Amino acid sequence: MRRVLITGDVHFQGYPYQFEVDEFQAVKEYVDIVKEFDVPCVLFVSGKFFEQYPEFTKEISKIKNIELGGHTYACFKDFWKGKGLVNKYLFGCNYGSEGYQARDIERFRKATYPLTITKWRTHEYASNANTWWILHQSGFKEIYDRFDICETPHISEELLNDVPITIWSDDIYLLPGKMSMEEWFEKSMALMKKQPFTVFQLHPSAMKHLDNFKTFRKVCKEVSSLLSN
Ligand SMILES: [Zn+2]
Repeated sequence: MRRVLITGDVHFQGYPYQFEVDEFQAVKEYVDIVKEFDVPCVLFVSGKFFEQYPEFTKEISKIKNIELGGHTYACFKDFWKGKGLVNKYLFGCNYGSEGYQARDIERFRKATYPLTITKWRTHEYASNANTWWILHQSGFKEIYDRFDICETPHISEELLNDVPITIWSDDIYLLPGKMSMEEWFEKSMALMKKQPFTVFQLHPSAMKHLDNFKTFRKVCKEVSSLLSN
């Protein structure tokens, strides 16, 4: 059976993007489109966004085709700008020491209580062996930190179910302008039709910034028609 999953990351209101975007507004529009086309979606959301928008995140948690996942408590930006770089220097991992990660994941759990969240994407894909162990112990089941853009994605099951992103992601290819939206759309749709399991990574903020959801709507439409055939 063919599977397709749209995923995107939600940071928080006030997150220092390079471009101007209202995170809450972007997420709201993204969720409406995903709902309209009824396509399977996982949104990886920071704990801080849950705290900023408790009612809105509760509403999203009730939508049947959207699942909420974790994206760290505050995307390494809670102490000072560039915390990730300091961590990389000190611990060889942007996500910090084992103790820092454990506290961050615990803080995420507190911010999202009483929701049961089992999927995770580390901000900047910066997980290491410590992250996997802590997530496993904290009841998480799946991690989405790896890229595997090919026709037969490999899903491994170790401590966590390791689910790869299988399409050229927006933050690596579209935002830096390595691919035009048109080229990306054509190549991605062709690859999706060949793959048994497709995982997109399209952030609400990027979809808003790049073309105000025009391409995102087209993707949802194609996914919806592919899955209904
Ligand atoms: Zn992120």
